[in-house]
Amino acid sequence: IIRFEKVVKRFGDATVLDGLDFEVHKGEKVTIIGPSGSGKSTVLRILMTLEDIDSGLIYVAGKPLWHQYRNDKQVPADEAHLREMRKEMGMVFQQFNLFPHMTVRRNITEAPVHVLGLSRKQASVRAQEYLELVGLADQADKFPSQLSGGQQQRVAIARALAMHPNIMLFDEPTSALDPELVGEVLNVIQRLSEEHDLTMLLVTHEMQFAKQISDRVCFFDQGNIVEQGPPEQLLTEPQQERTREFLKGFL
Ligand code: ATP
Ligand code: MG
Repeated sequence: IIRFEKVVKRFGDATVLDGLDFEVHKGEKVTIIGPSGSGKSTVLRILMTLEDIDSGLIYVAGKPLWHQYRNDKQVPADEAHLREMRKEMGMVFQQFNLFPHMTVRRNITEAPVHVLGLSRKQASVRAQEYLELVGLADQADKFPSQLSGGQQQRVAIARALAMHPNIMLFDEPTSALDPELVGEVLNVIQRLSEEHDLTMLLVTHEMQFAKQISDRVCFFDQGNIVEQGPPEQLLTEPQQERTREFLKGFL
């Protein structure tokens, strides 16, 4: 459902993705691990079209993300095409990124109303459904500042789900949280992965969690995949020296 082909991304002189080939299949749960600066967030940001690419091709749900077909020829994507492609994906950021001046309900209903064209009423019903799913059914009228970090992150998850994406992207969703709040967010993500037919791509430093939920773990370093495989294999008997070195830091 996601395919990167020889993707290069530079920031100035720095090559952040160095000819990346990467694939995620429909329904697959894939975790990305790797050192700071290895390009993990960049992969997700490119998918959300928050960053463009320098060369290579990316396909999402069978269509080119940064390109489109016109008269059978590939040309750069226009805004309308990007908007269409964004609907495939929902993203949850490290810093929840909720709108501070809006209630929880409003945070969740904004995009369904403005992007999908739902009525306020329909969007509210949908918001309530996802608030229940993340265990916050009674918090809809609060503002983000009145919630704990763990609750805010669960609202962010509900907000992404309310757009009915086929793919969910998580960028270190628990690393800004106090340790005692990590569990409640991981539990929600775990439930999602078990009960919903979503494709999930998750960047995390929670190795135990990665082991539990992933079909596959990819180790990134210096803008490319060094090694990937099923979690029990990659996390316990990695083949590459660089992967072993990295994982030592998590014992
Ligand atoms: P972390 O674990 O710290 O989140 P990461 O693997 O997510 O790291 P990225 O955020 O993808 O790393 O960044 C990869 C590299 O690209 C880093 O060296 C970073 O400094 C650089 N970079 C990212 N965004 C920008 C930007 N907007 N402008 C310039 N450089 C950037
Ligand atoms: Mg990052």
